[in-house]
Amino acid sequence: MKAPASARPAVFLDRDGTMIEDVGYLDRLDRLAWFPWTVDAIRALNRAGLPVVVVTNQSGIARGFFTEAFVDETHRHMTAALAAGGARVDAYYYCPHSAPGSAPDDARRCDCRKPGRGLVDRAARDLNIDPARSFVVGDKWLDVELGVRIGGRGILVRTGMGAAEERRAPADVKADAIVDNLAAAASWILRNLSAAI
Ligand SMILES: [Mg+2]
Ligand SMILES: [Zn+2]
Repeated sequence: MKAPASARPAVFLDRDGTMIEDVGYLDRLDRLAWFPWTVDAIRALNRAGLPVVVVTNQSGIARGFFTEAFVDETHRHMTAALAAGGARVDAYYYCPHSAPGSAPDDARRCDCRKPGRGLVDRAARDLNIDPARSFVVGDKWLDVELGVRIGGRGILVRTGMGAAEERRAPADVKADAIVDNLAAAASWILRNLSAAI
């Protein structure tokens, strides 16, 4: 898919372990815990004019741990909390399917579970984004791999599962940066943005 000339670079953020604590399956709003730097980091990306888009695997839906309505409610709650700090996520996209072989649904045909690029391609159409000039930030190698697959850049953060992930780096996926947290990732993106615009 070739992006139109007007398409913009964006920052794709993983949710659990990257913006908020990874609590396993987030199934109640009272378990949602922000990292203290998340609002400031997203506001900095907003000020640079970069669309900020959440892309998250939520297989807890397929597994029956929570509903799509709950995920939507969670994202409305996050939107309000970010707005209170002057920050904005432009859109949220989630894969409701389970990992192939892990539950009795049709996940093997799903193209949206990361590292599949389905969520990014949907966002690219909706928001006029050029994936190949974009960044993916997450706490798992599948997030970095998504960055590679879209021809953009992948950044691993050490929050959430990130520190453990760093110790078991796959042979075939290389991060453009490995940093402590989303604040450092945002700084890295802003430093490296000139090459993307
Ligand atoms: Mg994560
Ligand atoms: Zn999916």
